[in-house]
Amino acid sequence: MTQWQRSRSYFERARQSLAGGVSSNVRLLAQPFPLFFDRAEGALIYDVDGNAYIDYVLGQGPLILGHSHPAVLDAVNAAMRRGQLYAGQHELEFILAEKLVELVPAAELCRFGLSGSEMVQAAMRLARAVTGRTKILRFEGHYHGWFDNVLISVAPPLDQAGPRERPRPVAGSAGQVESALADFVVLPWNDLALVETLFQEMGEELAAVMLEPMMCNTGAIPPEPGYLEGLRQLCDRYGTLLYFDETITGFRLGLQGAQGRFGVTPDLASFAKAMAGGFANAALVGKREYMERFARDVNHSGTFNSNVISMAASVAAIAELERDGGAVYRQMERIGTALMEGLQELGQRLGLPLHVQGLPTAFHVSFTELTAIRDYRDYAQHCDRELYGRFVLAMLRRGVRLIGRGIWYVSAAHTESHVEQTLQAAEAALQEVA
Ligand code: PLP
Repeated sequence: MTQWQRSRSYFERARQSLAGGVSSNVRLLAQPFPLFFDRAEGALIYDVDGNAYIDYVLGQGPLILGHSHPAVLDAVNAAMRRGQLYAGQHELEFILAEKLVELVPAAELCRFGLSGSEMVQAAMRLARAVTGRTKILRFEGHYHGWFDNVLISVAPPLDQAGPRERPRPVAGSAGQVESALADFVVLPWNDLALVETLFQEMGEELAAVMLEPMMCNTGAIPPEPGYLEGLRQLCDRYGTLLYFDETITGFRLGLQGAQGRFGVTPDLASFAKAMAGGFANAALVGKREYMERFARDVNHSGTFNSNVISMAASVAAIAELERDGGAVYRQMERIGTALMEGLQELGQRLGLPLHVQGLPTAFHVSFTELTAIRDYRDYAQHCDRELYGRFVLAMLRRGVRLIGRGIWYVSAAHTESHVEQTLQAAEAALQEVA
């Protein structure tokens, strides 16, 4: 492991003062151990041993413009010299809110926070206040943050998960209170008939249906045609709020988020990762009549909410995303498509069950005999995760950094030459591990 000698010694040192040597449990999963990075620019990230990687992790999604985008950095630099945190209002807040209202179909009013997890909490509280109901329907394999009441059935062990038709809510962490689980009903993704049956049974008890409008945390699975429309109709019929957690899909699937791409408008939607070019920012948006409750009797607070840096970063990042009629999206679609097709062809040529699915800006790669991964159970039962782990490590050795659970993010900084280098690395990596 001489390639990562310094990282190794840093990791050993970090473990003396940081639990597990990391600050987020997701990073514990990194292959071959959590590496230490020194700098990053565009599509490249450099570790402390001087190795460069083409980065498809992109901060777990936020860096849609690539690392260290000059327009975002300039805007942040300029703004922060006028103060960082006013605990009061400033112009950039309504400039950003107006932009979201202009772009995002569900956005009539907005609130800002710092992370996807927080916005999920605000959305659930609001839905419960609006409807006077407690229960929330969610889907197996979807991730809505790490808090007690939502870290449920994200990657449940199958021997605990119950039947596919009505999964048992399974806590994702030691220390979670059982009572939090009782407020959630879990169903498999993309099966409208099961949602209809559930609504017939208890639609009038449901405060919200909460979902990643494309399941990105397991398998990059877009909604089946008619699925989101079906959820919309059921929610309308039973007075349940439809809530899209667009933490990943927001700005990644287009300027209007997944709701624009798939043509279904939820009552509430939250945005985070890609809306601030790598800085911490998040938004909850929704129908005016619901969001107005925040001005009355629903509490949503936060010391760092709408701080100057987050707002400046978002305004600048969205301006870049809008430039030249969305040139950035056209570039990402081209690059992502070339990667998806190239990887698929490579699998065929080498006779490997390599499967690629999703959309060009967020797609999933796995080793499976299935022709499509349709839900969490498909992923858990039919994808060779051990083999994918070895592939990730083999790619890292060849200068390509991937996320272990199979999702690939593409940025505007990735070029045709990165695609070529990535496919060359993938060919050699596949020959090594298969
Ligand atoms: N919701 C979704 C769909 C996510 O993918 C994530 C994070 O990956 C979250 C919520 C939590 O966001 P954060 O990590 O910013 O708290």
